[in-house]
Amino acid sequence: MPIKQKIGIIACSGEKLVEGTLSRAAARIVVEKLRPENTIILCQPLFMAGGLERFGGNEERKFAKTHPTITIEGCEEECAKIAVESYSGPVAATVRVKEIIKKYPDLIPNSREDLGDAGYKLAEKIAEETIKIVDELYKNL
Ligand code: SF4
Repeated sequence: MPIKQKIGIIACSGEKLVEGTLSRAAARIVVEKLRPENTIILCQPLFMAGGLERFGGNEERKFAKTHPTITIEGCEEECAKIAVESYSGPVAATVRVKEIIKKYPDLIPNSREDLGDAGYKLAEKIAEETIKIVDELYKNL
């Protein structure tokens, strides 16, 4: 049976909003805990910078050209999506953190530096929404 390709997860790199922290925490939960076999994290700053020469350069962009990529966005600017679509091509899907937050009004993060227990649970909810998309995409790879 052929080995299926991985799905790229690229999160918002925003430091000003708690949604940015939630985006990155959710991406880590997806890649490290929920779907480690099926996903790989892409670094948005590295993506923008064009990659590291010692790894051949542009590897993040090359990956996103040839693999489905899901962005997790902290706000309406959707920077991760813009980055991928500027350098690699259309994203497979976009997860909008602000929309998911609205479904869980009782889960309030402490701060952008320290999500706290409720904030971490919220990141888990965002991760769960993300893996629904991962699983759907993976069926068709
Ligand atoms: S999506 Fe919003 S929070 Fe994230 S990097 Fe862009 S402007 Fe900042």
